[in-house]
Amino acid sequence: MNKTLSGKEPAEELLLSVKERAVKLKPKFAIVLVGKDKASQLYVSMKLKKAEAAGIETELHELPDGIDEKELLALVEKLNKDKSIDGFIVQAPLPKHIDSLKVMEMINPEKDVDGWTSTNMGKMFIGEESFLPATPAGVMKMLEYYEVPLEGKHAVVIGRSTVVGRPLAILLLRKNATVTVCHSKTENLSEFTKTADILISAVGQPGLVKGDMVKEGATVIDVGTTKVDGETKGDVEFDEVIKKTDCSPVPGGVGPMTVAMLLNNVVEAAERKG
Ligand code: NAP
Repeated sequence: MNKTLSGKEPAEELLLSVKERAVKLKPKFAIVLVGKDKASQLYVSMKLKKAEAAGIETELHELPDGIDEKELLALVEKLNKDKSIDGFIVQAPLPKHIDSLKVMEMINPEKDVDGWTSTNMGKMFIGEESFLPATPAGVMKMLEYYEVPLEGKHAVVIGRSTVVGRPLAILLLRKNATVTVCHSKTENLSEFTKTADILISAVGQPGLVKGDMVKEGATVIDVGTTKVDGETKGDVEFDEVIKKTDCSPVPGGVGPMTVAMLLNNVVEAAERKG
């Protein structure tokens, strides 16, 4: 019988450790939310709720959609300097008139609990201690929790975004997996996926990974989340794929791990500050 790789149990385990460590440190976490994007509002309220439940103090800065880039950068600077804040994030996506890269780069790397600044990405790349981007780190934690062997195994990552696919490839390499990264220009995708011992899909295209594209006995992690008629769908045809592999569901898979990993970074920021 193949396993459904729920993210709930490993996330709860991690959140318990976050809570225990937060008791003494009393960390404070801030979120900057620009505009009224429904999905972003939902993610932010979930992060705030989980943070409070874990004993992390929170602060929300809501800014209007039309905010000037300069004003947003000034807020980032203010949060960088605010000694009471241990870590903060600027919720993505930002409105089109704002240069997201510039805003993210402005965040003090020591408070960059999303791990998106080039400093933290670079440190991850060379294997130095850094804040790891929450979703890829959450996937790695899930693989560890379910004791999925990585060393010498073929890991195939579908998706090469700077916040999910690429960092995942690096983290898998650091665990001595042999890594293949596929993307929208990859020809004959299934030739790669069929040879994967570990297959991770981070695309955002429901139905992309079908039963005949996976190897019997593999481990499949579905990062994709797409709203279809109000329902959240992953990239993987779960009902087909679970017949051949251990597979994470959507919802209830990587999602809870992402939030738990983010809050773990907040506590880590407070621990480093001492
Ligand atoms: P993204 O920036 O849009 O990247 C998507 C990647 O998929 C790109 O690298 C793209 O290739 C590739 N791609 C597109 N169509 C493809 C195809 N037909 N075959 C193979 N590769 C294809 O998205 P993202 O930010 O990485 O997020 C990916 C998914 O994960 C989304 O559904 C997002 O909502 C979800 N997500 C979930 C969580 C969570 O906590 N559960 C967190 C973050 C993201 P190119 O580079 O060639 O364009």
